[in-house]
Amino acid sequence: MKTIGLIGGMSWESTLEYYRLINELTGEKLGKLHSAKIIMYSVDFEEIQNLQHLGNWTELGNTLADIAIRLENAGAEIILICTNTMHKVAQDIQEKISIPLLHIADTTAEEIKSRKAKTVGLLGTKFTMEEDFYKKRFKEKHGIDVVIPTKNQRQYIHDAIYNELCFGVMKDSTKQRFLNIINELVSNAAEGIVLGCTEIPLLIKQEDCKIPIFNTMQIHAKEAVNFSVDVKS
Ligand code: GLU
Repeated sequence: MKTIGLIGGMSWESTLEYYRLINELTGEKLGKLHSAKIIMYSVDFEEIQNLQHLGNWTELGNTLADIAIRLENAGAEIILICTNTMHKVAQDIQEKISIPLLHIADTTAEEIKSRKAKTVGLLGTKFTMEEDFYKKRFKEKHGIDVVIPTKNQRQYIHDAIYNELCFGVMKDSTKQRFLNIINELVSNAAEGIVLGCTEIPLLIKQEDCKIPIFNTMQIHAKEAVNFSVDVKS
């Protein structure tokens, strides 16, 4: 079994889920009392979100790269950034380490392709929905088209992530608004919805929606376990 390095704490509410999922999936593969070999570095999210909203991505890239180096030195054999948003600096991190960084957009795109969807709706922070690092990768590397909510809806989703979901607050009214936005994306050609923020799956579940939901956290965790555990025997 290979050791998984997690850069967590963004937020810790979703990192808890990563930890649970990776251990559960490892147990399912190997049986008995098997659990995952994990080294985690959990950040102070207030520091991170301040830098995000100041637009200081250079410092964020350096900070996360430094953490990734520490995880590699401690014995990690693969790195996961346990958030979609911070994949904006994924390349800066990968360049500084010699182990693979498992990119959440690539793992999600592979799952979308295996389900034969061509156009997906994307929900996440404004950074993830509006900037290129996710949408462009989907389109150029994987041939997947992305539709996003309107400007007002994007602001609403962004605020709900930082003011509610990252505090573990799950309100019925917020869930209903997210579901309305999802319905609009479906009318705009989305064949599936990417929950491109690791807190959104804490609010929205597959059973809430009629079309396929791509839970980036779950897909990312599953792929990490596939890398870690070789069950060929
Ligand atoms: N966890 C969220 C994501 O997947 C948002 C928190 C962050 O800004 O990293 O994007």
